[in-house]
Amino acid sequence: MSQNKIFPPAMLGILGGGQLGSMFTVAAKTMGYRVTVLDPDPNAPAARFADCHLCAPFDDVNALAKLAQCAAVTTEFENVNAQAMRDLAQHTRVSPSGDCVAIAQNRIAEKSWIRKAGLQTAPYQVIEKLDDINESSLAYLSGILKTATLGYDGKGQIRVHTLTELREAFQTHGGVPCVLEKMVDLRAEISVVVCRLNGEQIATFDPAENIHENGILAYSLVPARLSENLQNQARKMAVRLAHELNYVGVLAVEMFVVGETQDLIVNEIAPRPHNSGHHTIDACLFSQFEQQVRLMCGLVPADTRLLQPCCMANILGDVWGDEGSEPNWGAVLDNPLAHLHLYGKMQARVGRKMGHLTVLADDATTAYEFAKNIRAKLE
Ligand code: ADP
Ligand code: MG
Repeated sequence: MSQNKIFPPAMLGILGGGQLGSMFTVAAKTMGYRVTVLDPDPNAPAARFADCHLCAPFDDVNALAKLAQCAAVTTEFENVNAQAMRDLAQHTRVSPSGDCVAIAQNRIAEKSWIRKAGLQTAPYQVIEKLDDINESSLAYLSGILKTATLGYDGKGQIRVHTLTELREAFQTHGGVPCVLEKMVDLRAEISVVVCRLNGEQIATFDPAENIHENGILAYSLVPARLSENLQNQARKMAVRLAHELNYVGVLAVEMFVVGETQDLIVNEIAPRPHNSGHHTIDACLFSQFEQQVRLMCGLVPADTRLLQPCCMANILGDVWGDEGSEPNWGAVLDNPLAHLHLYGKMQARVGRKMGHLTVLADDATTAYEFAKNIRAKLE
C-alpha cells in the first residue's frame, strides 16, 4: 500500500460505531473527511454523524467490500476479526494492523508478547484445560482467573483463593482458555495513550490516573498524582511497546503501580483510543480521536500537551431511573467548568457506559472532587 498522505474529503472507514467510533467520526467530519461506519446496531452512536452506516455483521462480505473502498480503515475495538482486517489490508490502508489487533484480543498472546518486549506483567499461568490446574498454580493464588478473550469492564474475571475455587471458576468460565493472574499490591492504575506513525514520529499523552469502581473505569485524573520520574518511565514503556509492535495509530497501555517500591507493570493494551483518554477532547490541544484520524491518514502525530488539569468521570446506565427517566443533567450543565458528552445509546443498563463528563480545575485533585460531587447528584 502506498503511504501517501490522505487529505479531506477522502472517505475513512471504521469497524464499530459505539462511543469510540462516534467520537472518531465527529473528529474526522470536523476536519472535512467523510466517514463510513460498519456496525450491526441500527442505533449505533456513530450512525448519528457518519455519512454512511453499513448496518451489517462485522463479517458481512458485502459490507467489508464497501469498507475496502475507503481511503483508509481503522477500528474502534479489538474484538473484530483480525483476519478480516488483514484481508481489508489487501485493498486499502488499515491501521492498526490485524496482527496488532490479534495480540490485543487474546490475553495469552498479549502477556507473552509484553514479556518478550522486555517489560513486566503480573505473574501469571496459562490455563487451557482443567489438567493445567495443579500444585504449580498455588504460586498464583490469591489470583484472578480471566478469560483469554472477550473480557472488558471486569467481565470474564473471577477472584480465586484456593485450587478448588480455581477449578470451579474455570468451569464457570465454560472451560475456555484463561490466564490465572496473581493479585498484585495495587497502589495506583495509570494508562498512557501513544500516537505513533513510524519509528521517528511518535508522541505520548500525559499518563492518566485511573480509578475503578466494580471493575469499571469511574474516573481518570490528569495529571496523574505520581512522581515525574514514574510518569516518564510509564511513557517510555508505552513507547517501547508501540515500537516493538511497529504500531500505526493510537495505542493505549494500561499499567499498574505495584507495592511500596512502586514498580510499574503492564496490565493490558488496547489498539485504539481509550476511555482514559476521553479528557483529551476537552483538556488537550488535540484529542485522541483527532490523532487517530491523522495517523490513519499518514499524518504526523499532533501536539499532545495538556492545557488544563482535569478529571473525566464515566456516566453509567445506573443513574437512569427505573422507568428510564433521565438523570439530573443540571448537575453537570449548571457547572461552567464541566463538559457533558452523551453517546446517544437507546437503552440505559446497569454498568453500561452512556456518556462521560470532564471537569476542568486548577489541579487534578480539585477536578476529581468536583467530578465526584456532580456524579453523586446525577441520580
Ligand atoms: P478489563 O479487560 O476488564 O479492563 P483488566 O485486566 O484491566 O480487565 O482488569 C480490570 C481491573 O481489575 C483492573 O483495572 C484492576 O483494577 C483489577 N485487576 C486486574 N488484574 C489485577 C491483578 N493482577 N491484581 C490486582 N488487581 C487487578
Ligand atoms: Mg483493563
